[in-house]
Amino acid sequence: MSDNILEEIFIKRSQQKKKTSPLNYKERWFVLTQEKIAYYDFDSDKGKRKGLKGSVDLEKIRCVETVQPEINSPQERMYAFQIIYDEGPLYIFSKTEDVRAQWIKKLKEMVRFNKDLMQKYHPCFWVDGVWLCCQQEVKQAMGCKVLDNKNGFTSNLHLSRRRGSRKPLPPTPTEEKAVRPLPPQPPEAPSHSVGMTVIAEYNYTPMSPQDLELRKDEEYTVLEMSDQNWWKARDKNGKEGYIPCNYVVEAEHGLEKFDWYSKNMNRSQAEKLLKTENKDGGFLIRDSSKAGKYTVSLFTKGGGETSGSCRHYNICTTAQGQFYLAEKHHFSSIPELINYHQHNAAGMVSRLKYIVSNRARPPSTAGLGYGVWEIDPHCLTFIKELGNGQFGVVKYGKWQGQHDVAIKMIKEGSMSEDDFIEEAKIMMKLRHENLVQLYGVCTKQRPIYIVTEFLSNGCLLTYLREGLKQHPTTVHLLEMCKDVSEGMAYLESQQYIHRDLAARNCLVDGNGTVKVTDFGLSRYVLDDEYTSSAGSKFPVRWSPPEVLLYCKFSSKSDIWAYGVLLWEVYTLGRLPYERLNNTEIVDQVSRGLRLYRPQLANEKVYSIMSRCWLEKADDRPTFQELALTVQDLLYELQ
Ligand code: ADP
Ligand code: MG
Repeated sequence: MSDNILEEIFIKRSQQKKKTSPLNYKERWFVLTQEKIAYYDFDSDKGKRKGLKGSVDLEKIRCVETVQPEINSPQERMYAFQIIYDEGPLYIFSKTEDVRAQWIKKLKEMVRFNKDLMQKYHPCFWVDGVWLCCQQEVKQAMGCKVLDNKNGFTSNLHLSRRRGSRKPLPPTPTEEKAVRPLPPQPPEAPSHSVGMTVIAEYNYTPMSPQDLELRKDEEYTVLEMSDQNWWKARDKNGKEGYIPCNYVVEAEHGLEKFDWYSKNMNRSQAEKLLKTENKDGGFLIRDSSKAGKYTVSLFTKGGGETSGSCRHYNICTTAQGQFYLAEKHHFSSIPELINYHQHNAAGMVSRLKYIVSNRARPPSTAGLGYGVWEIDPHCLTFIKELGNGQFGVVKYGKWQGQHDVAIKMIKEGSMSEDDFIEEAKIMMKLRHENLVQLYGVCTKQRPIYIVTEFLSNGCLLTYLREGLKQHPTTVHLLEMCKDVSEGMAYLESQQYIHRDLAARNCLVDGNGTVKVTDFGLSRYVLDDEYTSSAGSKFPVRWSPPEVLLYCKFSSKSDIWAYGVLLWEVYTLGRLPYERLNNTEIVDQVSRGLRLYRPQLANEKVYSIMSRCWLEKADDRPTFQELALTVQDLLYELQ
């Protein structure tokens, strides 16, 4: 027994080596030794191991990673991990996050010098002939997510977060070139684990009795991560409670407490933030696209450019571990380096004059407190009416007198309420910066209320038609499209179908960021005019042939609608197929008619639209691909 490094009873999923073999889940006794990971049948009454059922030689392992739980997966299958070897993935479910982390860590350590370690993997399951993360239908298809190399994969010397075949970077001092960042990923961080120390980026005042207060820049220990949005944590005084996990960052480098450090920010987010601040010399430090490195992003109005532009400088390291920027002034720490360049440009376009921080406004939480989805209507104050929709009046108000919210008051008879209330629990867990956050529901009274994040610039369609203060730039239009593509890529990664994507179902916040709303809601509408494809309110103009003809909804029908939404953006809110009525549209679109190229859209943008409108649903791109394409176009423009 002493040879056994780890032993544990896990649930194992059948491997579906053939497309038709059934999916099943069995408890097995797993044993890890120096050579292999083996699993056995066992007698649960006597607690004894029985016959060997299978094993994988450690030297054949090419990757060990977590797997995202499927939506609606039962509690015992929340903590999955995968061991990938030549026969594909072996899926194993642990009872707790801790045990999973322990096994992954150990396995990674043991296989780190293996040949053929993978650089990309699939973060979601392979089920019935398709990868849930990227919808590819070939089991051997290359992974769609680049592995985080922090976890022991040190032999991957060439592992790079850069994609595409761009020129290599020039020798230092370097100015970071426009490279394509990774596609948007579901909010999941494989390196996070129970026991880690995090630092609060924002203050958080408890909203439910189970919550723990967060004070900006203070440290907390994470005790439990079973909920994807709310972690249990302990503060320095030993007080415990739940915290919104998007309010904290892992304390890894000691930089987290500096306002100039924006961890988890990519190049385009940095550019957007710096441009919004619009201050000459505005700067921030972010993680570079190269793992373990940092980049200074700096906004300048110099050089005769009226609108200003962003420069990106990599922080370089000498062989002795000293840091330097554009010129060779060496420092033993990054804060010292920043301090120096706050006073000296020393090779950059300007000195670092103003700290631009993403911490000015806290992000939305997934619900108003841990485990809270039923909201007490007495905590709501109604301030003004925002509009009238399919379900009735929508109002702007405050929750507990201080948090902005939008409240949909559901007209009686307009919604199948019980079904929606069930679904709301799942919707609450969806959290992305380009999705309008559902905060909760008031269901103990009639009419019921749906409480969501409030976006001060209202509906995107109205914003396009009348809200743009000046003629929009191509960058601005494309940024709106990018926002939507990222929100949708997240929904796609969660296998969630929107079913009614259109400019009228997107909202714009005070910074001009576009967020998608009303996802999945159409399933609960009680109105034949809206739900039947022959009805007058059915979104015929946003629907692909397979929806119009066979009501076949999928992420690919959302893609079609996204193409139409692009068209709405580039026509500043015109009605698609203006001159046709619904019957004519069904007829002509199924015979191949497509929308024309809007004047503001160049060929590249129009070719994206056209790909969304391919006849065969499978030929259309995924949102993940679209988000990358749009991002690339944005870089070309800047
Ligand atoms: P429904 O989906 O029930 O048809 P809408 O979502 O279209 O209703 O809401 C009607 C109007 O209310 C929208 O056009 C928009 O102007 C406003 N509105 C809805 N939700 C919000 C929100 N979260 N923030 C700001 N305005 C909103
Ligand atoms: Mg709506």
